[in-house]
Amino acid sequence: MLPSASDLLAWYDRHRRTLPWREAARDPYRIWLSEVMLQQTTVAAVTPRWRRFLDRFPSVQALAAAPWEAVAEEWAGLGYYARARNLHACAQAVAARGGFPDTVEGLRALPGIGAYTAAAVAAIAFDRPVVPLDGNVERVTSRVKAVEEPLPGARPRLAALAQGWMEQAAAHSRPADFVQALFDLGATICTPRNPACAICPWQAGCEGRLAGIAGSLPRKAPKPVRPVKYGVHFLLRDAEGRLLLRRRPPSGLLGGMLGLPGTPWREEGWSAEEALAFAPVPGLDWRPLPGEAKHGFTHFELRMTLLAAVAPPELRTDGEWWPPEATAQALPGAMLRLLTLAEAATGVASPAHRAPGSGPRKRTQTGRPA
Ligand code: SF4
Repeated sequence: MLPSASDLLAWYDRHRRTLPWREAARDPYRIWLSEVMLQQTTVAAVTPRWRRFLDRFPSVQALAAAPWEAVAEEWAGLGYYARARNLHACAQAVAARGGFPDTVEGLRALPGIGAYTAAAVAAIAFDRPVVPLDGNVERVTSRVKAVEEPLPGARPRLAALAQGWMEQAAAHSRPADFVQALFDLGATICTPRNPACAICPWQAGCEGRLAGIAGSLPRKAPKPVRPVKYGVHFLLRDAEGRLLLRRRPPSGLLGGMLGLPGTPWREEGWSAEEALAFAPVPGLDWRPLPGEAKHGFTHFELRMTLLAAVAPPELRTDGEWWPPEATAQALPGAMLRLLTLAEAATGVASPAHRAPGSGPRKRTQTGRPA
């Protein structure tokens, strides 16, 4: 029996998750923002950040008009700053054209909107009959259709199979609800480990369940080993305990964000002599702190060490002096890890690192692509 869209919709009508971006009328700005944030982390972590972001930038026009520094500050701790830059650029493009386009193609043409986000916004905000392929939809589809080909190679086939649901009249007449029903099924019943098949509305037609292989799907090709890069950063405190921060160059990783000054990140380690050539203030008594901070980016793992010094009175240098307790909102996760390292090495508390969501967290429930 083919799993029926109307069975899934009937289940959704009773069991749908209450999510803040579903509460109000369908506002493409709110939906788009939730989708971009959900690419970074879990629903639980996104919810308070999404509300706070909207308090500060209540409309796409407000976001478009905001200075980049304000957007970067509000994004801090959500990781992948290129996405925040794209978010800002996209808001400006949308404001300039007077609103969001209502088709996949129109959305796809906006800065930073990939195939997934375009399909999600088109379906959820504008009821277009498209199925975005996120981690939940991938998992549900691979199980229902017993697709054993591993990811990522199986993705085009899974996308085509998932889009096939829209051929059923029930799905085609309620695209936004159907897509969110798929998300909810994957997040609450057809979970990565131990799918709850006994209470699943699609159990009767699920080929993976019938073949006894559902829990092992989707299969995944082995991940390539991530290369390691190394950087040395400089912890300079003044007599009041404030830290010297500098804004990073606008392009590149963490572009435009505040950070501890440092060397570039490269694939070979740094000698102290090499690193000191990048010191924000040469000639100080720079001392290495023990330990190493690690931060995972998509394409490499970063390992960072610290050189610390105390600034002489009346020092004049480029940058901004920040009290440590104020840095939680300003620093990206990689830099907060350095403050954690500093605290472990010196015993001097840096409240910044205790900020919730201080680094990008891998999604386990929804795994939204861009
Ligand atoms: S029957 Fe089990 S494996 Fe199949 S869709 Fe439902 S929860 Fe997932």
